Amino acid sequence: MTAPPNEPETQRSAASGADIPEAEERVLSTLNKDGSRRWMRPRISTGRFLTGRRVVAYSLMVVFTGLPYVSVNGMPLILLDVPNRAFTFFGKTFLPTDTLLLAFLLLAVFIGIFLITALFGRLWCGWACPQTVYMEFLYRPIERLFEGRHYRSGGRAQLPPWRRLAKYGVYLVLSMFLAHTFLAYFVGVDTLFQWVRGSPAEHPTAFVVMAATTGLMMFDFCYFREQVCTLMCPYGRFQSVLLDRQSLIIGYDPGRGEPRGKLKKRSDDLVTGTTERGDCIDCHLCVVTCPTGIDIRDGLQMECVGCAQCIDACDEVMDRIKRPRGLIRHSSQAAMETGRRRVLRPRVVIYPVLLVIVLTLFGVTLAGKAEADVDFLRTRSRPYVVLDSGQVSAQVLVKITNRTQEPRRYEIDVPEAEEATSPDLPLTVDGGEASTATVRLVLARERFHQGRAPISVRVSDDNGFTAAFDHHVLGPLFGGEGGS
Ligand code: SF4
Ligand code: SF4
Repeated sequence: MTAPPNEPETQRSAASGADIPEAEERVLSTLNKDGSRRWMRPRISTGRFLTGRRVVAYSLMVVFTGLPYVSVNGMPLILLDVPNRAFTFFGKTFLPTDTLLLAFLLLAVFIGIFLITALFGRLWCGWACPQTVYMEFLYRPIERLFEGRHYRSGGRAQLPPWRRLAKYGVYLVLSMFLAHTFLAYFVGVDTLFQWVRGSPAEHPTAFVVMAATTGLMMFDFCYFREQVCTLMCPYGRFQSVLLDRQSLIIGYDPGRGEPRGKLKKRSDDLVTGTTERGDCIDCHLCVVTCPTGIDIRDGLQMECVGCAQCIDACDEVMDRIKRPRGLIRHSSQAAMETGRRRVLRPRVVIYPVLLVIVLTLFGVTLAGKAEADVDFLRTRSRPYVVLDSGQVSAQVLVKITNRTQEPRRYEIDVPEAEEATSPDLPLTVDGGEASTATVRLVLARERFHQGRAPISVRVSDDNGFTAAFDHHVLGPLFGGEGGS
């Protein structure tokens, strides 16, 4: 084991100028007291949690990279086609007309997050969030490869130029790979391969998007790093709302650890028979291993991402000084104080009930969706004309959204009309696309009441789909109705 440092170097200012005024205490965990950036180079603490996280992280990297290649019934498992506003999940495409479905889906995701946080705290952040996974298990290991495993934090590491260049070269290749993987979720792998194979001159927009995404990855993983979790991510900020005193957190047991004291003091106390010491030997290993630079002994903090590195570090110390493990452990705030943890509480009952309700509504709405959506648009020209015969000629704009994946040919029929003609029919609409047909109707004047005639528009396709949609055609008020 590495010898514990006497004083954590995290307390030092990285700036060399002595005349820079220092704050009384650190404002952010990623800033030194003089306001300069505090670069984290956390000590790696091996143990059961790190082993578990490594297995999860490398499995997730395979999943994150592989998901865009997986398809269900010929459709991608996930495709977020933002320009066309079509979102595919598990082979099912949601179009802009599916606002209700998307709202239910989003609501279910939020309630799921609330539930998981109430039960397991920030398990997602420490174990599965792509930011943590790539930062801690890809970029930091590479950094250690080039800079060594020392765990000093504060200023930047001093590296020979060639070493620094090589490190950033590897980062660039990785960031390009991650940028391609990320974009595959938005454009699909086929388009992505087209972009990659073609010259940048053929796809200038795609090239700019790719370069910008790579730049963002470099900025995130090389410079901004843990600040994404501590400053930007809204999830961490909502933590105090989402967690209650019974939620699972990683906490230090002050009842067992305090009063803390260094090993040297402890042996002096033994000799003099003075103060009774707690189990914390104030070695700071739990501090120097923390990727967000906090001291878990100060209590639950927003910056804690639940990575359990402090548990692995402290357990190792406890083994060494022959004290039971778990001075820092998974527990709840209430359990740390009373020794009892209550799993069953109102929010862990209410959230699942809400989740079931929302998912049921989602399922029912989805099941009720036809293979095509039909909307009636307003015509810009005169809505109707009274013919010499006394009949009324009106135009109806029928917009058909093909919700299937294949092209379909649609026919439109209006049984109430004497005539229903359209130069647009049959209307061919590609899968996931929408198209509009202008239908000219001739209706008997008797059908109009109060200037409106109810009609039923029947839409059918060449694949057996058929559905009727109620609509009203605007027309004149006739003599008997007080109009002309
Ligand atoms: S809590 Fe554990 S790791 Fe942290 S300073 Fe105390 S003994 Fe060391
Ligand atoms: S306090 Fe512990 S669990 Fe929280 S981020 Fe730091 S090392 Fe990870």
